Amino acid sequence: MGFKKILFKTTGVALCLSLIFSGQTGTLSVFAEDVTIADADNSDSGQDTSQNEDYKDALANLGSQLKDLQTQQDAIQQNINKAKSDKEKALAQKQQIDNQISLTRQQIGLINDQIALLGDNIAQKEAEIQQKSAEIDENYTLFKKRVRAAYLDGDASSLGLVLGADSFYDFLTRSEIMGRIAQRDKEVIEQLVSDKEAIEQAKTQIESDRAEVETAKAQLDQLTESLNEQLSQTQQQLQDISALEEQFNQDKAATQAEMAAIQADIDSIYSKLDSMGDFVGGQFGWPSPSYSNITSYYGWRFNGSDFHTGIDISGANIYGTPVVASNSGQVVFVNTSYTPGKGYGKYLIVDHGGGYTTLYAHNSEILVNVGDYVTRGQTIAKVGSTGWSTGPHIHFEIRINGKHTNPLEYLQ
Ligand SMILES: [Zn+2]
Repeated sequence: MGFKKILFKTTGVALCLSLIFSGQTGTLSVFAEDVTIADADNSDSGQDTSQNEDYKDALANLGSQLKDLQTQQDAIQQNINKAKSDKEKALAQKQQIDNQISLTRQQIGLINDQIALLGDNIAQKEAEIQQKSAEIDENYTLFKKRVRAAYLDGDASSLGLVLGADSFYDFLTRSEIMGRIAQRDKEVIEQLVSDKEAIEQAKTQIESDRAEVETAKAQLDQLTESLNEQLSQTQQQLQDISALEEQFNQDKAATQAEMAAIQADIDSIYSKLDSMGDFVGGQFGWPSPSYSNITSYYGWRFNGSDFHTGIDISGANIYGTPVVASNSGQVVFVNTSYTPGKGYGKYLIVDHGGGYTTLYAHNSEILVNVGDYVTRGQTIAKVGSTGWSTGPHIHFEIRINGKHTNPLEYLQ
């Protein structure tokens, strides 16, 4: 890719067009399509004719560029729309994750309360167990006193057994000893031991409950972590989409600027384009077969703020009706890309020779292409309201050597 400037020399004016060339000689690469342009080596023979040919080629190329830019613009707009919808989706997703995080935090709060409560319970049970142990020890001491008293009464084997026992529990299992002590002591101690066991069992249960709740809390912690990760991903996604959106908007602005520059080139070239050959003859006919009402005349209007360069034809239900060629000739310019609210909208120009051209603007559709020969009365477009237009109408101009004139002086 390289840049090459083509100079079109004309009387007193030099137009400078920057065009992008591909590596192949003479092939103009305009984004999606390749457009071949004529080599500018026709400088010596028929100056005016070759200049006109150059102009026509330049117009065709610029028109094609404009069309490509419009296609790009449409694609960019689609991207912008998609980014908007993606952004909305991501925002909804973020909202959902935020809600989940808040909910999980509440759950964790509740579980923390439960864990604290269970911890209190366990501490209470531990205190109870200690209490029971103390009571058991106390009763055992009393019991030993009684055994000592029995020994002093002469029963030696009792004491020997008590002092030789490895533990209090071993001792209790010796039934022959148990038979000798007071039934009440035995029952008290047994009750205490059984109480202590029950408390220990309860404590074990609470500890198991707490372990379960702690597992649930660990799961919630994990969920929170995963939700936070999702949240940061969604935030990243939103940032990416915003960056893309920004880029698309920049692209859109750049494309629009490019289109405006090309349109200015086209307008400039068009104003210097001489009509080809001799006048085709005959009379200029009315451009609408069914509508004759003129809603705006040629000349100054809006209290002198605007010079109307043609006539406007309109009427009820005119939208979509045929626009016909005012006279026979060749289509030299077709423009289908436009900015709503600005300019001629979709318009075309027919060259009738002898310096005469006609222009048909604001169409909804154009049915001919550049280079086509059209005959007087042939349908070339459909009435629309594109460009700077407040309602469906035909804006019709007759130009002589590029200068607009009052069409009513020529129309038959
Ligand atoms: Zn008009």
